[in-house]
Amino acid sequence: MLTLGCHLTAAKGYANMAKEAISIGANTFAFFTRNPRGGKSKELDEADVVAFYDIWTAEREDGLVPGKLVAHAPYTLNPCSAKDYVREFARMAMKEDLERMEHTPGNYYNFHPGSHVGQGAEAGIEMIAEVLNEVMWDDMQTTVLLETMAGKGSEIGGRFEELAEIIGKVRLNGENGEPDRIGVCLDTCHVSDGGYDIVSDLDGVLEEFDRVIGLDRLKALHLNDSKNPCGAHKDRHEKIGDGYLGLETFEAVVRHQALKDLPMILETPNDLDGYAKEIVLLREMAKKR
Ligand code: FE
Ligand code: FE
Ligand code: ZN
Repeated sequence: MLTLGCHLTAAKGYANMAKEAISIGANTFAFFTRNPRGGKSKELDEADVVAFYDIWTAEREDGLVPGKLVAHAPYTLNPCSAKDYVREFARMAMKEDLERMEHTPGNYYNFHPGSHVGQGAEAGIEMIAEVLNEVMWDDMQTTVLLETMAGKGSEIGGRFEELAEIIGKVRLNGENGEPDRIGVCLDTCHVSDGGYDIVSDLDGVLEEFDRVIGLDRLKALHLNDSKNPCGAHKDRHEKIGDGYLGLETFEAVVRHQALKDLPMILETPNDLDGYAKEIVLLREMAKKR
């Protein structure tokens, strides 16, 4: 059974997201931890969290079992900005988000590593690792995920090597018996835009991922088709099957031994109805003999 869902709006709280997810056949979902345009986050509503677990963990008519959630940090955060106050906001927001996520323990917190804005990838990687080491702590129950990026502009994370370097600099990376609280979320649109040819060589790309980062670090997927060909570095998502990746690529992804059990999140240009249809389509693909 796939753990599959889509990005939902968090505006009406957790319980509402659980209802929406269930209504479209999803058993995971993603949401922004705060307004992506920045600004202050809402206080956590304890009653809403209780209501959420009641709905989310109840036995379902469709028999689906809930998997881990994949929260998304605002994409405007830049932990490797050249400006002190921008890095300071990233630090504050991530710390606050991670503290709030302890109320829904055991889930994922995905973020875009950042853009080095001309300072160079090496300097950027250093700054990102520094922020992670400040906002993460020993017995935290959330796993932080670095998202693979399209390599647009000065984005860091378009190459697997960059993600591996960041992970190598994070103190809580599972070495020396410490808990492993850092991983990677692979976005299908982004890796293709980044130049990894998952259309004709998914196995080869995953072998490369394994060699550079280690497949044990791969914790979640973003399923998006791309409006642009491999290597375009554009980051424009398309509906499943309507872009350069195509249906066969998604069939290969949802059936792949190394991927089929990971939480999969759709971030395609859709309303809830459109997501419901893509969820049906992908669940069928996973079953098909
Ligand atoms: Fe993202
Ligand atoms: Fe994504
Ligand atoms: Zn994207």
